[in-house]
Amino acid sequence: MKLDFPKSILWASFLLILWQPVHAGDLSLDEIDKLFSQLETDPSQFESIPEQVELLKQNIAADDIPRTLRLKRALCWSPDLTKENALDKALNYANEQLALPMVQADIPSQADLTLCRGWLLQEKGVMADAMSDYNRSVALAYQSEEPRLIADSRSLRGALLSYQGNFADALEDLITSQHLYESLNQTYWARYNLLELATSYRRFGDPATAIRYYEDLLQKYTEIKDSFAIVGVKAEMAMAYETLEEYDKALIYYREVLASWEAQKDPVNIAATRVNMSGTLIKLGRLKEAKAELELAFADVKPEHVGFYAFKHLFMAQILLAEGKPMDALPLLQIGEESFRNVENSRGLAELYATKSQAYAALEDWANAFYSLEIQNSLHTQLDSQLQSQRTTEMRTRFDTDRIENENRQLIAYQRLREKEMAILQENKLLQFTIIIMGIIILSIVSIFAYKQAQRSKLMERLALTDHLTQLANRRHTYHEGEAMFRSARPGSPLSVILFDADHFKKINDHFGHDVGDKVLIAMAQSSVGQMRKGDLVGRIGGEEFLALLPHTTLEQAVEIAERLRLTIETTDLSEVAPGLGMSISAGVATLDSSRDKNFSSFLNRADHALYRAKHNGRNRVEKED
Ligand code: GH3
Ligand code: MG
Ligand code: MG
Repeated sequence: MKLDFPKSILWASFLLILWQPVHAGDLSLDEIDKLFSQLETDPSQFESIPEQVELLKQNIAADDIPRTLRLKRALCWSPDLTKENALDKALNYANEQLALPMVQADIPSQADLTLCRGWLLQEKGVMADAMSDYNRSVALAYQSEEPRLIADSRSLRGALLSYQGNFADALEDLITSQHLYESLNQTYWARYNLLELATSYRRFGDPATAIRYYEDLLQKYTEIKDSFAIVGVKAEMAMAYETLEEYDKALIYYREVLASWEAQKDPVNIAATRVNMSGTLIKLGRLKEAKAELELAFADVKPEHVGFYAFKHLFMAQILLAEGKPMDALPLLQIGEESFRNVENSRGLAELYATKSQAYAALEDWANAFYSLEIQNSLHTQLDSQLQSQRTTEMRTRFDTDRIENENRQLIAYQRLREKEMAILQENKLLQFTIIIMGIIILSIVSIFAYKQAQRSKLMERLALTDHLTQLANRRHTYHEGEAMFRSARPGSPLSVILFDADHFKKINDHFGHDVGDKVLIAMAQSSVGQMRKGDLVGRIGGEEFLALLPHTTLEQAVEIAERLRLTIETTDLSEVAPGLGMSISAGVATLDSSRDKNFSSFLNRADHALYRAKHNGRNRVEKED
């Protein structure tokens, strides 16, 4: 039985099944992708982000490259930075990942991991390195043409630029990312970015605009009960009111913020808020309260909390100066100055020099007092002109939003097109797969049917040519073959026939029964087939009458074969069929003579005559043609 075709189809289907992406763990690929997109769209919906990322880690197979890359990005963004050494570990991780060839081969991953490292460096206070990573990440993001990456990288860079006082560039970055987030329906990140944008307006000297944004955000965050975001907005509002010199309002917000951080037991933010509050209290002339807040905060504000560390020293120096202790104030101002310089905070530095000048004046060191004042003045002038040029650029940026929006629209349209293309590709893949599977099924069914049909017709054909009792060729088939041999016979290759008939068969039937008669016929058929050579054919042409066709056989050879056949049948042991049973045949032999035999039946006739003579001459004998 040959079944190669269906078997190869089975193999093909098996391989096709293997070809589908495999994965380890309990989550399906769809569930993995869903979790990724939830984490990337709004991480605030999860209690613990590291836990979710760990879950992803356990479910992604190492050979699933795209998801492994996506996981690396998520892992970089999700460390719990409140843990010991977490920042350094996270930085190590980012550096290791960026060195991997698989990351270097994938621009979006490279962009995102560089951005993540920039963010970690900023957290560590290494602003110059952070900025260079941000710049690199923005370039890579544009190279990748992924709007989300462009938005993320420009949002973070904008926030740092804003912190460093470069408002014009900050606004361009933040406005760009704002449009992108909104176009991408990234509500969570749009709000987050809007907070940075508002803060930039505050720092830029437009606290009124900032407060408008803050109030908007506060309402939205209150609606969705995002308490973490609410605290952030309130802290910014407090600072905005401080800039507007509405110190009492600022103080109300600071107190609310402080209460929230205390409820969340966040020591660093509690201390930071106390530092800010003390600044406001100093401006209100409430020095005792200011000092109390500062003293509560002092131990928790460490050098790595760069901004607050500088302000902590500046405010304490201002209090000491007011208390008439200028000598004690000076070393604190020294520390504050270094810290402000580290983070390039010119506004803080200007305020610090003003205080320093007052301290020297109190010590009657007029030269240093004057020198400090001069520095403060130049810083102010510098800040003013910077602010002036930035105002101009800001105007340009504001009017330039058309261009930004246009660029963004193109980016988004391109992204949508790519998404559609991907969807079509995906769909096509599915369609192809379905077609292949359907094809395999249909082909299998058809080939099984065709195979069965072929088997059946072969059987039918065999049945049509075979005698069912003896399994020899039947009369029709034997004559058909005989006629073919007659036609192709050549002088050099004689064709002979043996016509043989069971002797007194009627008696066998009568004596032993018809069944025994049948068995004798079968035994006769087997014996005769045993005497034939390759190329010979023996068929049953009547009840107990057989014909052997012997191509390439002379009369003498044929007589010899007939004699052997007669002897074999005569000596066949039939005791198993019936005890005492014996039998014999008579045979007539003829060889084709083209001068005499006009057709196959006239040729056969001559063999029949010989057979008749054999019967007539006493049976169990062979006679040849005369
Ligand atoms: P002879 O020696 O002259 O050939 O005598 P015979 O009895 O063999 O010849 P006859 O033609 O008188 O009888 C042939 C018998 O063969 C008649 C028939 O019952 C029997 N016969 C024919 N076909 C079959 C068969 O398929 N099975 C059995 N058991 N008997 C058959
Ligand atoms: Mg007979
Ligand atoms: Mg007969």
